[in-house]
Amino acid sequence: MSAVYVWIETFNGKALNSSWEALGAGKTIAAAAGVPLTAIVFGENAAAIAAESGAHGADKAIVSEDATFNGFRLEPYAALLSKLVSDNKPKAVLAIGTARGRELLSASAADTDSSLITEATSLEVQADGAIKVTRPVYAGKIISEAVGSSAGTQFLTLRGRAFKPNPENAAAKAEVTTVPPVLAEADIATKIESFEEEVGTVNLTDAAIIVSGGRAMANNPKDAPAGAADATVWKAQDGFDNTLKPLADVLGAAVGASRAAVDAGYIPYAHQVGQTGKVVSPDLYIACGISGAIQHQAGMRTSKVIVAINKDAEAPIFKLARYGLVGDLYQIVPALTAELKKRLGK
Ligand SMILES: Cc1cc2nc3c(=O)[nH]c(=O)nc-3n(C[C@H](O)[C@H](O)[C@H](O)COP(=O)(O)OP(=O)(O)OC[C@H]3O[C@@H](n4cnc5c(N)ncnc54)[C@H](O)[C@@H]3O)c2cc1C
Repeated sequence: MSAVYVWIETFNGKALNSSWEALGAGKTIAAAAGVPLTAIVFGENAAAIAAESGAHGADKAIVSEDATFNGFRLEPYAALLSKLVSDNKPKAVLAIGTARGRELLSASAADTDSSLITEATSLEVQADGAIKVTRPVYAGKIISEAVGSSAGTQFLTLRGRAFKPNPENAAAKAEVTTVPPVLAEADIATKIESFEEEVGTVNLTDAAIIVSGGRAMANNPKDAPAGAADATVWKAQDGFDNTLKPLADVLGAAVGASRAAVDAGYIPYAHQVGQTGKVVSPDLYIACGISGAIQHQAGMRTSKVIVAINKDAEAPIFKLARYGLVGDLYQIVPALTAELKKRLGK
């Protein structure tokens, strides 16, 4: 077993911050196995990102900076990762379970006939060397334990924000090896013709604090200004813009939403949390006027502290919440914002 590999996901030549969490998780396995922690960095700016990986705890880095890696196409990434795994037989390959991380690790695990465990929220290395992982299943209703085989390479995707990054040490250097790509452009069937970045995207998965709003953001249509085309939608936008966002701003939080809120057009889909939206694990999740349907819970139940504000004391969200405030959010949220502003000196 030569190493523990961690794929450092990049976007436009920058590492995703969550990749440093994957290095944190990788360190636990590498230390137990007595092998180096190796960052795997492909694409634009790979050498600089490899240097950053050293500061975040990687002992080594394997880089490939070929133009075929620009953007993300599965074929060149999987071909090179699978070759590295076949040649070097690492103990484990880790990545954060983003859409790309899941796609790459599942393809490479299949290519190399290795086992894959997804969505780990914690891990430990057993005395026999096997990696034991906890992972939520059935939309987070059950936490299961899975143990990989101690033989072969174990592929693992990790839930974002479930693992701590290693302490940063700017002076630490990773020993870098440069490798060529496996596929040439002519061998790659997928071509990227254009790329349009979604406007107004929110980085919910990285946020330490999320303030979320639900259908209740449309609760006071009677307050719409005279002549508003759609009184319900007007109030909803007012609710997000004038009630939730000030609270989010004072806390430095991202704004999330239930599906009912995004379906109604109160806020773009990029904000949706849940089974068919983003899966988040912030330190603090404040749910305002969200009932707590199982599909919403699937996206936020692993948040460390959940606060619920709802006028219905029987709402299911209170079963999940550490702190519950029963009452009208249009009264509670502005009062909370004003008090936090005072206490945080903003
Ligand atoms: C296949 C499938 C996938 C789905 N995926 C998702 C998903 O990813 N994310 C998601 O969120 N949902 C998802 N849903 C929808 C989900 O089932 C719920 O319908 C949705 O989460 C409800 O949103 P809500 O809590 O905002 O609305 P509601 O359930 O209508 O709750 C509104 C809450 O606001 C409270 N309220 C009203 N006025 C006030 C006020 N003034 N002050 C305080 N509280 C107030 C009410 O008491 C109520 O509890 C999915 C459903 C299906 C079938």
